[in-house]
Amino acid sequence: MQFRAVKGTNDILPDEVRRWQRVEQTFRSAMALAGFSEVRTPILEHKNLFVRSTGETSEIVEKQMFELTRGDDVLVLRPEGTPGAARAYLTNSVQAQEPVSRWYYIGAMFRAEQPQRGRYRQFHQAGCELYGDPSPTCDAEFLDLLHGFLKSLGIIDVTVAVNSIGGLESRAAYRQALTDHLRPRAETLSDHAKRRLEDNPLRILDSKDPRDRAAVADAPSILDSLNDEDRAHWAAVLRGLDALGTPYTVSPGLVRGLDYYTRTVFEIQSSMGGLGSQNTLIAGGRYDNLLKSLGGPPIPAVGCGMGLERILLALGETPVARPAVCFIAPLGERATLSGLLLARELRERGVVSVLDARGNSMKSMLRRADGLDARVCIVIGETEVDQCQVQIKDLAAHTQEQAARVDAAARVLEIFATPPALGSNH
Ligand code: ATP
Ligand code: MG
Repeated sequence: MQFRAVKGTNDILPDEVRRWQRVEQTFRSAMALAGFSEVRTPILEHKNLFVRSTGETSEIVEKQMFELTRGDDVLVLRPEGTPGAARAYLTNSVQAQEPVSRWYYIGAMFRAEQPQRGRYRQFHQAGCELYGDPSPTCDAEFLDLLHGFLKSLGIIDVTVAVNSIGGLESRAAYRQALTDHLRPRAETLSDHAKRRLEDNPLRILDSKDPRDRAAVADAPSILDSLNDEDRAHWAAVLRGLDALGTPYTVSPGLVRGLDYYTRTVFEIQSSMGGLGSQNTLIAGGRYDNLLKSLGGPPIPAVGCGMGLERILLALGETPVARPAVCFIAPLGERATLSGLLLARELRERGVVSVLDARGNSMKSMLRRADGLDARVCIVIGETEVDQCQVQIKDLAAHTQEQAARVDAAARVLEIFATPPALGSNH
């Protein structure tokens, strides 16, 4: 074979796609029940969108974007969903149509990272965004919704880590406090953190380097730098979570790597699936300054993104059954044409039907029916065509009957409506 899939990308084959669809459908219903509607935005965006939103010093913008240049346009494959959704919101002046919007998305994202379990170059995120509501109640509702979503999938072993990084004023105060703490320790920091100390010291809290972890271990807490308004907002988020009974852990070191966050930030981790340091399934927070910084009005927002590959890894191998199939095995051309019509008739009545038109032996057709785990197999030979009959095999009950061709579809529907007996392998 000459071609391989591009490094860090995955082919998702049909049995696996069924597992994805289960997660996506669960997500869609959880979102729909909370009044969120799906939005679909382009995979290609202007590079500047991410420089302005995600931030010049973020890991994503510094080194992870796939860039394409065409004429004067510098484009990238979107590395995350929030900036594109915010841009679409502003481009279409959605705020002029409704005061509050609840959006969700599902789609492929691209980051040039070193591939490993739970970390790919093309991966998929589901995410949700809520525009126009600054209230702490939203943040609590949001977190509870995400927690409930994971629970409904069966991911129960989770930690909901929450923190507040305040607004611009609180952050400036904390930046000073953190810089004062780190300056005397500057020599012990990683090279990357040494640079961050000048341009974005909060990012050092997010570093995975053990030297940086040691230097920030006894750093002051950002919660102590919150001004009165930020502190009140934070307290109200926790009251909301307490009222809902959503389990959470306050994590003062949690700052998230992206520039646009304000006030509430969170991560939901799971110990399931052996994900190691890739165990953050969902990450997000409030970003009340993002829309303004993209040139729009000052519209508050809260949002999150979750890695679908990681959620599937956390779920482990849980195969999702294929739909029950009616298999049609004809012998000869006249039988095949009769089977072709019957397959269409069955589909019109909602039965999944597969006609074997290869012209192979009955034995090989039955083997294929078996491979498809078919519930019913309809055999049509020359004699059946002459007599306007078909043979119907109930593969679960191991019985066979003859039926008039005109009654075949109705009879198949009856069999499909009967649950297979216990002990059969269907
Ligand atoms: P990490 O610290 O693991 O690199 P991140 O902070 O870069 O994550 P976000 O940008 O917040 O991640 O993205 C939200 C979620 O998307 C992550 O929590 C994770 O589930 C998923 N994710 C991010 N990058 C990847 C990737 N390269 N491959 C697979 N999933 C990813
Ligand atoms: Mg990352």
